[in-house]
Amino acid sequence: MQITAALSRGPESPFTLEQVSIAPLRADEVRVRIVAAGVCHTDLVSKALLPPAPAAVFGHEGAGIVEETGSGVEGVSVGDKVLLTFRSCGQCATCAQGHRSYCASFVALNSSGARPDGTTTLSQDGEPVRSPFFGQSSFATYAVATQDNVVVVDPATDLVAAAPFACGFQTGAGAVINVLRPAADARLVVYGAGGVGMAAVMAARALGVETVVAVDLSEERRKAALAVGATAALDGRSDDLAEALAEATGGGATHAVDTTAVPAVIRAAAASLAPLGTLVLLGLGAREVTFDVMDLLNGGKTIRGCIEGDADPHSLIPQLVRWHAEGRLPVDEIIRRYAFSDINTAIADAASGSAIKPVLVFDEPTAG
Ligand SMILES: [Zn+2]
Ligand SMILES: [Zn+2]
Repeated sequence: MQITAALSRGPESPFTLEQVSIAPLRADEVRVRIVAAGVCHTDLVSKALLPPAPAAVFGHEGAGIVEETGSGVEGVSVGDKVLLTFRSCGQCATCAQGHRSYCASFVALNSSGARPDGTTTLSQDGEPVRSPFFGQSSFATYAVATQDNVVVVDPATDLVAAAPFACGFQTGAGAVINVLRPAADARLVVYGAGGVGMAAVMAARALGVETVVAVDLSEERRKAALAVGATAALDGRSDDLAEALAEATGGGATHAVDTTAVPAVIRAAAASLAPLGTLVLLGLGAREVTFDVMDLLNGGKTIRGCIEGDADPHSLIPQLVRWHAEGRLPVDEIIRRYAFSDINTAIADAASGSAIKPVLVFDEPTAG
């Protein structure tokens, strides 16, 4: 079957919409017609790292409708609305403990540029195209996913609003819901009000946390953070940030989330924790950060990393969909829609930060 995909041919080249062939389904695979696909920073980072050939198809926040299921697939039916999340093996020690984002096979299953056996789900003129990315490659009109990364959602789900739940929102919301687990009287500070940080803010407010402070360099984003529920929004460039934080949190954050990956921000975030506070690192990019160890041990502070919100997507994503339907997760405030054909604008706006969360929207197929 021929489909249209956004091909990446190296860091310098824009995406081009081209015809490619999509492989017939294996027993555990599912073919999904893509309705919407979020743009996440991992797409940008991966594009910047991969050589021009073979071409690659990114996209790992796919949302769509199941058109065909492999012979061994259970619990997913033709016509189901689904979100496509990251893959996990389900059998390694961490998967067995329910921590699927730390799957021992995570790289092989999600970012190797092929299925684990080296074959691809997409090809062009008989040549392989790097796919499936995160078990999907959803910057395309159709995707082949695998049963383990297909999450069936309520038929009433708005797939454009929900697409980012598959990665970026799951990352921010899951860090709060699964890792920090703040009580209502907690004081949470979120560094970086991009898509991931906003999801952390929204999840905390949905949990009833009374004090949620966002820190960002952009005035526009600080306004947006207040619009999605932050109780204060502070300028990260301000000279008296530490004092302003202490005031906004009543003496220090009990919980903090870093999405910036800027070493100086991470160090300051740890320093501004209240005793026994916890900082979770979500931002990709910082390799080394120095900390005042005496401050950490005298304060009994915890610093830990987290990817994909430490989530079991099959329980967290339906929970986020439910919260959105109940009006408790105002994601529409920060989503900007782009036609699939405008993917290069969406990517540019994601890279510049002018769009907090770009989502590509695909046309309905025409009859015949
Ligand atoms: Zn595993
Ligand atoms: Zn992502």
